[in-house]
Amino acid sequence: MNHNDTSPTTPRQPVLFVGHGSPMNAIEDNAWRRQWQALGHELRARHSPPSLILCISAHWLTSGWALTAMEQPRTIHDFGGFPQALFDQRYPAPGAPALARSISEQVRQPGSGAPLALDEVEWGLDHGAWSVLKPMFPEADIPVIQLSMDYRRPASEHLALGRQLAPLREQGVLIVGSGNVVHNLRTMRRDAADNQAYDWAIEFDRVTAEHIAAGRTDALADFQQMGAVAQMAHPTWEHYLPLLYAAGAAGETESATFFNEGFQGASISMRSMVWG
Ligand code: ZN
Repeated sequence: MNHNDTSPTTPRQPVLFVGHGSPMNAIEDNAWRRQWQALGHELRARHSPPSLILCISAHWLTSGWALTAMEQPRTIHDFGGFPQALFDQRYPAPGAPALARSISEQVRQPGSGAPLALDEVEWGLDHGAWSVLKPMFPEADIPVIQLSMDYRRPASEHLALGRQLAPLREQGVLIVGSGNVVHNLRTMRRDAADNQAYDWAIEFDRVTAEHIAAGRTDALADFQQMGAVAQMAHPTWEHYLPLLYAAGAAGETESATFFNEGFQGASISMRSMVWG
């Protein structure tokens, strides 16, 4: 029954990691956002529409792991000091409570083995999710579920959870990690050009890209072994962790295609990739 492997009703979906950078990328007509728009067109041309988008954003950290499970997730404006036009943005994609329940049973919390928690009221779609999904899928007609991260847990557990997501791809789920390969707001220089960056930022970005290109996902989870370079690249690592989910879901053998290579403000790597 090989023909069922390519049945349009169960299309295998790619995996994305998107560097989101400044929230203003959601509405500014810049090179990063144009690539997000182009990727949306490319995905529609190459793949069947996903049945669901499962997004792991740097901006939803919880105790244990949870899935959004409301019918209609609200658009969360989790930032300050930006123009009203950014606060006026809405991404009215529906939720998928039944799929969230199903995924919570298929995917278990690392450590405890408990089902993923279901959040029916608290969260919604934060800007890590909607700022990149809106340019990619402007129709907002594909249901979106967010998966939170337990920041206190070791990187290896985030990678392990990512690996558990791989079978969802066969069920038509598009997995999108949204963070940044390098993310240091303290050292950001807003006047820097897209090709300018600190030496430590270039170094961390380069080594990470080499691991991704070679399928060395365990090495990605050992990022703190880079010592001072890793500490500068990620003073806190919530923007790095979504990469482990995407790389875990992609696996070791599938090759990644990079896009949006470059830096925002000299200390935010916008490097993004698609597997499959
Ligand atoms: Zn962010």
